[in-house]
This record gives sequence, structure tokens and C-alpha cells, in this order.
Amino acid sequence: MKEEKIIIANWKMKLSLAETINLTKKIKTKFKDVSGVEIAIAPNFISLLEVGAVLKGTNIKLCAQDVFWEDLGAYTGEVSPSMLVEAGCQYVIIGHSERRKFMMENYEMIHREAKAVLGVENLTPVVCIGENWDERKTDRRDFVLYDQLQQALSGLDIMGNQEIIVAYEPIWAIGSGTAIEPTEAEYAHKIIKLTLNDMFGMKIVNNNFKIIYGGSINTKNAKGFIDLDNLDGMLVGGASLDVDEFYKLIKVITK
Ligand code: PEP
Repeated sequence: MKEEKIIIANWKMKLSLAETINLTKKIKTKFKDVSGVEIAIAPNFISLLEVGAVLKGTNIKLCAQDVFWEDLGAYTGEVSPSMLVEAGCQYVIIGHSERRKFMMENYEMIHREAKAVLGVENLTPVVCIGENWDERKTDRRDFVLYDQLQQALSGLDIMGNQEIIVAYEPIWAIGSGTAIEPTEAEYAHKIIKLTLNDMFGMKIVNNNFKIIYGGSINTKNAKGFIDLDNLDGMLVGGASLDVDEFYKLIKVITK
């Protein structure tokens, strides 16, 4: 399962519908020679169908930025896992720190969302964890990562070749322009892997989990991350919003 690294482009709420389609078309044209890496694009909800249509015939996958835990019902404004599958998504980001900050999402909700996503076929949850600046400054990162993983994933049944991606995103590095040191990411990924091993056993972790890093990855720092132990890919925000910059980033990674 772990042959190719995965790069997930999180476009957040940074582009209009028209800009989203335009950028997707440019990526489709420019990325024709890209191989050896899996790419997924996470546009806003209203763009999913059109982006999916543009990406048809390419290897670029569709990712949603959020999901609700119920399947159908009176949940105004929400979108369920099976609806995302219907829309062509193969991945969905869960519990991004911006949702934790602005929408008051907590790890009980993140747990429900992850469970619901694992309950449908062909949809992989990308579960975000990561410490804030205060937690890092006071040396609480390891416990925070352990605790978030426990809250998000405890008790989940991982069946067959179902995939779960854990995205380690130190909150203070997201959108800051400065990534953490690769060695620090490597250490955090090791903590995550050991915690997952404790929770699910090494075999399941090796076969079913990926651990990716997110936080100000760009063309200058990406190379330092890509060959790290226990790093299966990256979640990229700002550097994926410009076709040339994103292409350069992918080339740095695949070289
Ligand atoms: C993100 O949104 O998850 C992210 C990593 O953003 P950026 O690359 O801009 O820090």
C-alpha cells in the first residue's frame, strides 16, 4: 500500500468556484508528465462535482474538506460520507485545525466522522492532529498527539485493506510560511506510529495507515521531508494554489 507518497492539496475557502475550475484545468494540462506520486485535490464543497468532471481521465483524485457523521437526515448544511462518494471523492479531510478553531470541532466529533467514513466503501479519512504553539512550547506535544489519536481513533474497526491517513499538522506551522524542521516531523511521526502500534498492532498500522505532514510545505523545504522515515506524504495548502508552484513542488518531491 505504501509505494507512492500522497500529496493532498487543500484549497480551503481560498478560491471562488470559477477560480477553482480554472486552476484544476491548468493542473490537468500541466501535470500530464507527473508520475510516481499520488495527488489529491481538496476544493470547496460546491466545486467537487465540476472539479471531478475536469479531472476525469487523469490519476488525480478528489478529496473533500469535511464530512458529517450521519448518512441522511435533518442536518442542515451537512454532507455525508456516502454523498461524498457519490460526488466522486476518494478522500476526505477530517478535523482540520481550522475547523477545530472556527467551527469548534472537537475530537469526539472527529471520532464520529472517522467512524462514519470507514463505514462506507472507497472513502479514506485524512484525520488531522497536531499541537498548538503553547503545547509545543511547554513540551506537551507527545502527550497531545497520543491523546488526539486516542480520542479520534479508539475503538474503530479497520477492515481488510481500508486505509486511514493521519495528517500531522503542528497548528502553529500551518499557513505561517515556516515549516518545522524535518527532524522534528520525523520524531513526531515516530510518536504517532508508536501510538498507533499500541492501539491497532503493527501489522494493521503497516498495512492500513499512512502518516503525512502538513504545515507550510513549499518548493524550498519539501525535499527535506519527503525521504523521512514514517512519512507517507504531505498535506499542502498555500503552495498548491498556483499551478507553477505546485508543479515545481511535485517535481522536487518526485526527483
Ligand atoms: C493545511 O491547510 O493543511 C496546510 C498545511 O496549509 P499550508 O501548507 O498553507 O501551511
